[in-house]
Amino acid sequence: MTRTVYVNGDYLPETEAKISIFDRGFLMADGVYEVTSVLDGKLIDFGGHAKRLERSLTELDMASPVTMDELLEIHRELVRANGIVEGLVYLQITRGAPGDRDFVFPDPATTPSTIVLFTQNKPGLADSPQSKVGMKVIGIDDIRWGRRDIKTVQLLYPSMGKMMAKKAGVDDAWLIEDGFVTEGTSNNAYIVKGNRIITRNLGNDILHGITRAAVLRFAREAQMEIEERAFTIDEAKKADEAFITSASAFVMPVVEIDGVAVGAGTPGAVTRRLREIYLDESRRAAV
Ligand code: PMP
Repeated sequence: MTRTVYVNGDYLPETEAKISIFDRGFLMADGVYEVTSVLDGKLIDFGGHAKRLERSLTELDMASPVTMDELLEIHRELVRANGIVEGLVYLQITRGAPGDRDFVFPDPATTPSTIVLFTQNKPGLADSPQSKVGMKVIGIDDIRWGRRDIKTVQLLYPSMGKMMAKKAGVDDAWLIEDGFVTEGTSNNAYIVKGNRIITRNLGNDILHGITRAAVLRFAREAQMEIEERAFTIDEAKKADEAFITSASAFVMPVVEIDGVAVGAGTPGAVTRRLREIYLDESRRAAV
């Protein structure tokens, strides 16, 4: 089945969707994005993603070509048109195509932003085999830019990090700056000590995960203890449990770091409980 995608106001078959070669997303990674998961044919935490998108756009002085209400309708229409029950909706907005290459931002009055959305069908997303066995990670240097709180499409180093992990025979990499873990290549990082959940505090050095915010809220409601502070990779190796969160992986156990088993080397009880709570609560609030 040909996927229906959305480009600048039109719903089109993916084979007919086109973007200019002068688009600043293509030439300069001058764009922002969001990924929203779909469970039971409904959007998980759309409000959180829309809010972060608005913040990313504001931080980069970029105009949104649509209102957030219109954006919700576009998401819903793509989910419907493509028959997505479990999967993802990818959204990207760039500073548009000024018709030539220039470092200076174009005038938004004459160069409208580009907007693209497409769905990814992922049957079994919530019941992934990896959530049962956990994932293995390695620590690598975090050499990304200083505004990781803005969700830009500059994903070359995260891609390289995933390749380093693949080459090392593991699933992902945790990024380390000044001795402390910032986050995963495409997820937020956590450790558990006893009943306490430890995760890096928000700042410009990590993406403010929408899943992170929801998981911490649900954990607080369940009377779990939370400590928002940086931790080292060595502290992580000695923790009782470790896990990551993202819109596509939800809550995913980490059972090995740099070849060292975390806790018993199997998904821990706190992590499993958080995954269950997160999926239950998110499904209930899905739109
Ligand atoms: N950190 C980074 C670097 C990411 O790319 C992502 C996923 N886009 C996250 C954290 C998790 O964010 P979210 O829970 O909003 O998907």
